[in-house]
Amino acid sequence: NRIVWLNGNYLPADEAKLSIFDRGFLFADGIYEVTAVVDGKLVDSALHMARLERSARELGLRLPITTKAIEEIEHGLIERNGLQEGLVYLQLTRGAEERNFLFGEELEPTLLLLTQPKVLVDVAAAKTGIAVKTLADLRWARRDIKSVSLLPQVLAKRDAKAEGCDEAWMTEDGHVTEGASSTAYIITHDGKIVSPANSQRTLPGCTRQALVQLAGESGLILEQRRFTVEEALAAAEAFITSASTFVMPVTSIDGKPVGGGKPGPVVTRLREIYVDHARKSAS
Ligand code: PLP
Repeated sequence: NRIVWLNGNYLPADEAKLSIFDRGFLFADGIYEVTAVVDGKLVDSALHMARLERSARELGLRLPITTKAIEEIEHGLIERNGLQEGLVYLQLTRGAEERNFLFGEELEPTLLLLTQPKVLVDVAAAKTGIAVKTLADLRWARRDIKSVSLLPQVLAKRDAKAEGCDEAWMTEDGHVTEGASSTAYIITHDGKIVSPANSQRTLPGCTRQALVQLAGESGLILEQRRFTVEEALAAAEAFITSASTFVMPVTSIDGKPVGGGKPGPVVTRLREIYVDHARKSAS
């Protein structure tokens, strides 16, 4: 039985109970984070904690404990569940009260943490690449906040899967914003990495932030700009990043091959660089 952490207590998952009045449930009034675990340690945790604090601040949510205490609980869960490789999921909601759009100021926030085992490093898809489907980005205008309001992404992933695709690339004004749960990139024929600059249109990826730094150290150039679906189809390579996929080649878009339909040299190198970083810097 998996151990989770809810509002101050470690307990078996099936004993963790929440109020039907929780605003996370009634209004999606909450935020989340997903952090990778390799070798029983947290990957890029400082980046995830910084983004958590930012999301909370933007919505006026109160973090009931410090990010240092959160990291201690995450380590506690990793140990109690014997997790070697996988994810830690964190959700913070504004708390529970009688249903009302307006929220009370004295609410006790709900904080939930749980672990999920998942193979991250030795995944078959990294060798073949994944297929993506493009569709309209139907989300709100503050996508920089990691809100639990994920219905557009839930539907996008369903539609992608219906066409045999592993991820959805969402588009706006003819340009790719990002994946349903990942950051989107292409590599140009002269070897430059292209990914949209951080703005309110996309979630600032923690994996992106770490990878940009690592790529720079390896002499690779990142061009921060939008790209169209046509440009992606004509690109040398394409890929996504996220805490749950690390760096993952994209080898087909809307059923058409990208980069010859096989993972190319740049994305293969970037994945190696990131996995190496994850292993060495996990804490
Ligand atoms: N963009 C969206 C919409 C996401 O949901 C995610 C992660 O779930 C990402 C990008 C990638 O962010 P990170 O690298 O921090 O996991």
